Amino acid sequence: MTDRYVVIGNPIAHSKSPQIHARFAQQTGEDIAYDRLLAPVDGFDAAVREFVAAGGRGANVTVPFKLDAFALADERSARADAAGAVNTLKFEAGRIIGDNTDGVGLVRDIVAGAGVSVAGKRVLLLGAGGAARGVILPLLAEAPVELTIANRTVAKAEELVAQFAHAALNASRFEDLSGTFDIVINATSASLSAELPPVPASAFAATTFAYDMMYGAQPTVFMQLAARHGAAVRDGLGMLVEQAAEAFFVWRGVRPDTAPVYQWLRAQL
Ligand code: NDP
Repeated sequence: MTDRYVVIGNPIAHSKSPQIHARFAQQTGEDIAYDRLLAPVDGFDAAVREFVAAGGRGANVTVPFKLDAFALADERSARADAAGAVNTLKFEAGRIIGDNTDGVGLVRDIVAGAGVSVAGKRVLLLGAGGAARGVILPLLAEAPVELTIANRTVAKAEELVAQFAHAALNASRFEDLSGTFDIVINATSASLSAELPPVPASAFAATTFAYDMMYGAQPTVFMQLAARHGAAVRDGLGMLVEQAAEAFFVWRGVRPDTAPVYQWLRAQL
């Protein structure tokens, strides 16, 4: 019998996850069906339980439900606990297991997708929201020499530094940033409204790799700024594909080849 999966969100019509997972299934020969599930903003738990009762095997979770999914899970992976959010649910033996694949997806896209090593690098993370929090642990696992979190509300960056308590980690106001960084990651939601986080131009050099978690047909304003200062740039489409691949692995124990799916999606934008 075909195993059923969904991506749950509100709104959900725009989600590319069904196309991504259909390609993973085709490529690996896994017998799955993957659909979109629109849940009412106040009806996440009921929507999940209904899907489980109907035989669902797993779900991806997107805006605005990643915290609801975290609360709903009977058990959670260490990386979901570190992220404080769940984007992947697995339904097994009557239990709801929560995981988070966003952070590992970002790191895999930087290291394997872009071919940029994080080890020994000076890394700047812009933003201290859900997406930023989820990438801290996987980034630290790559052994950067420094990971600075800059946020408009600096107290949130300081909270993350206190939570992860790692020697390489520190918090900063945008205006206090100094020197150039090897890697600059935009995890703010500013790009969604075509705004720029107030990162100083001095953060970028010709050797800098700048990554925006947001993606689209055109380079984001952040990518344009970084490119003007000589940086190599990449958007978050690869992160989307890699987080999906990791979820597919969590569910099926099989790792799809992400490169052709990334190229196909890029051509669709
Ligand atoms: P949150 O709402 O949790 O956090 C938003 C963050 O952006 C906060 O740190 C906030 O600062 C900051 N911010 C918002 N506007 C501005 C601005 N104008 N200038 C400076 N800082 C600003 O959002 P998420 O963490 O969930 O998402 C962040 C981004 O990551 C989104 O663009 C999202 O699309 C993307 N994303 C991409 C994924 C992918 O697969 N490619 C996966 C997950 C997320 P403050 O604390 O001061 O308010």
